[in-house]
Amino acid sequence: MFTRLSGNLLRLSCCISFKTSKFLCSPQLSASQFCSFHFSSSHSFFTSLLVPHLSFQHPLPSRSCFPVLGSDRDNHYLSGFTHPVGHMDLHKVLKVLEQLAPLSLAESWDNVGLLVEPTNPRPIKTILLTNDLTAAVMDEAVAMNCDLIVSYHPPLFRPFKRLLQKDWKQRLAVRAIEGGIAIFSPHTSWDSVEGGVNDWLVGGMGSGQVSVLSQAHSCGPQKHRLEFSSMNEEELNSLLEQLRHIEGSETFQCSTVRNESGGQQVNLTCNSSALTAAVQILLSNPHASKSLNITQVQQPPLLGCGQGRLSVLDEPVSVSTAVQKMKTHLGLPHLRLALGDQQTLDSMVKTVAVCAGSGASVIQGVKADLYITGEMSHHEVLDAVSNGTSVILSDHSNSERGFLTVFRDRLAAQLGDTVNIVISQRDRDPLQVI
Ligand SMILES: [Zn+2]
Repeated sequence: MFTRLSGNLLRLSCCISFKTSKFLCSPQLSASQFCSFHFSSSHSFFTSLLVPHLSFQHPLPSRSCFPVLGSDRDNHYLSGFTHPVGHMDLHKVLKVLEQLAPLSLAESWDNVGLLVEPTNPRPIKTILLTNDLTAAVMDEAVAMNCDLIVSYHPPLFRPFKRLLQKDWKQRLAVRAIEGGIAIFSPHTSWDSVEGGVNDWLVGGMGSGQVSVLSQAHSCGPQKHRLEFSSMNEEELNSLLEQLRHIEGSETFQCSTVRNESGGQQVNLTCNSSALTAAVQILLSNPHASKSLNITQVQQPPLLGCGQGRLSVLDEPVSVSTAVQKMKTHLGLPHLRLALGDQQTLDSMVKTVAVCAGSGASVIQGVKADLYITGEMSHHEVLDAVSNGTSVILSDHSNSERGFLTVFRDRLAAQLGDTVNIVISQRDRDPLQVI
């Protein structure tokens, strides 16, 4: 991930759906009526894909029909007679990519999704997966006649005013456009999603009770709860009739209950866009205005999703063993280690906080025996060490790149043999220990 910008709120969308009841505004409102409020959650994106798993014959017969994933009907087929075997429409591939990790999970500051779209997207035959899109990786993409580059880090992040050859990122954009190569970046949506980069990273330490450090929440419209009382049912029905005329009132949710004094206690939930109008109406009523209490409704959490992970290991290991495990997991000959105060290589590690990339802003202050991330500043490491927490640093992209293999397999399971999915051989962290 990129260094998180302080103060950024998670604005995450979700796979939690709300089925809101209609605003109750009937003049026949009874003393105690409730709008029902339901939500269903599906927090395992990888296990709840809408796309059916496809099976293929191996090898694909050259004159056979084969299923097309993402088509409107699961059983829609393209004929091998009229279309070359082994390609897929760009937008069908994008649909699968977004089902594997919804872009709504990305941080609000991020720049995810389709970044370059050719005028006439060619059929996707080859997808190149890379952590970073460098000039070397673009050379590789061009050489293999790649149709779509999935670059974990967004190669286009800050706005351009020109596309000139003197800037390396602008050159990459031009090369992609000229070559008709589409570029897609998932970045923090992969970090956040359950089973994504951070779950893969913490998995290097073995099994454990894993929790999310910075919980993702549904982003839906911001809601407010207005609690107030009315003197009697007649007054309540009058207020509700006024509220019914507010734009968007069909999304209101309302429940009432008779209070001890014979009046009505009301609990009304509305979107931010309707809040001012609703408050104006309630303030015009003496009884409601005196009792009015407004609170912001917390969006429901997206279980298993968010930035960073904390694992309470099923089997605690020594610091020395932890280093070896992570070397193996990341495929690296070297890691950097800072021992926490009073710790030795034989000290035991039971709790591990991880955040792929530059994760200090997420893991800093978390109580754990060990932090694992790609990079932290000198002073951030000193802070951790002074709290008795040891730190393993792998360099930024080394803490992310290994997930490409996991993702390739997941994508291949969805796309089948229709598309060739390749992991870049030229992509590597720019830093090396020599
Ligand atoms: Zn990163």
